[in-house]
Amino acid sequence: MGLLIAGNWKMNGLGDRLGEVSAVAECARTTSGHNDVLICVPSTLITRAVEAGAGLVVIGGEDCGAGVSGAFTGDISAEMLKDAGASAVIVGHSERRRNHNETDAMVATKAVAARRAGLAVIICIGETQAQRDEGAALSACSAQIAASLPVDLEFSEGSAIAYEPLWAIGTGRVPTAGEIVEVHQSIRQRLTDLMGDRNHGLRILYGGSVTAENAESILELPQVDGVLVGGASLRSHDFNGIIRAADAVTRHSGDPLRRLRHAYETDR
Ligand code: PEP
Repeated sequence: MGLLIAGNWKMNGLGDRLGEVSAVAECARTTSGHNDVLICVPSTLITRAVEAGAGLVVIGGEDCGAGVSGAFTGDISAEMLKDAGASAVIVGHSERRRNHNETDAMVATKAVAARRAGLAVIICIGETQAQRDEGAALSACSAQIAASLPVDLEFSEGSAIAYEPLWAIGTGRVPTAGEIVEVHQSIRQRLTDLMGDRNHGLRILYGGSVTAENAESILELPQVDGVLVGGASLRSHDFNGIIRAADAVTRHSGDPLRRLRHAYETDR
C-alpha cells in the first residue's frame, strides 16, 4: 500500500476546470506509480472528471446521504456517486459537521452507505483549537473515531481516516511533526483496539494546509499514509508538487520499509 494523495475541491469547479484533472493525470503518469491519487469533486463533475483522470486519477464524491433513495431533496446517495463513476467518498468533513450539524452517528451511517455502494470511504476527524489548547486533542480524536467509525465494517480498499485539526484547515497553520506523529500514533492504536488487525488496511491521512512546500516533510513521517488536501488541490501546479513530493518520499524510504516501521510502532 503506497501513500494516498487525496484532493478535496469542495464547492469549487465548473466544467472549464477539468483540464486540471487531466494535468494531474499527466503528472501521475510520470511518477513511479507506487502511490494513489484521488480527487474528490462536486457531484456535477464526477463523470467528466473520471474521463479526464484517464484511469490515473481516482475520482470521488465529497459527501453522501445514508439512504439508497427517497424523499431527501438535494441529497445524493453513495449508489448515485458510484453510478456517476466515483470510486470513493469523503464523509464527516468538518465543514459538513459544522455547517450541516452532522453528528458522529450520522457520519457512521454515511460510512456504511459508502461500503454498501462499494466506495472507498475517507472518514474525517480532528480536534478544535479549544480542544488542543486544553490538552484534549487525543481524547477528542479518539472519541470521534469510536463514534463515527462503524468498526464491524469490512472497509473497501483505499479507505482511510483523515486527521484534520480544524485549526489547520485553510489557515496556513500546520501542526509540528511531533504533534502529527503523536495524533497519528494514537489513532492507529485506537483503530487496533477497535478493529484488531483489520485496521492495517486503513490508511491514516493528514489534512490541513498541506502545500507542495510542506508535503514532503509531512509525508516522510512513517505514521502518515497520505494527505487530504483542500486549497492546494484546486490547481494542478500545486497538487502535482504534492504528488511529486509523495513520489520522492516513496522512492527514498521504500514502501516495505515504511510498513515495517509502522507495524513496529503499532505493536509497541
Ligand atoms: C480540507 O478542507 O480538507 C483541507 C485540508 O483544506 P486545506 O488543505 O485548504 O487546509
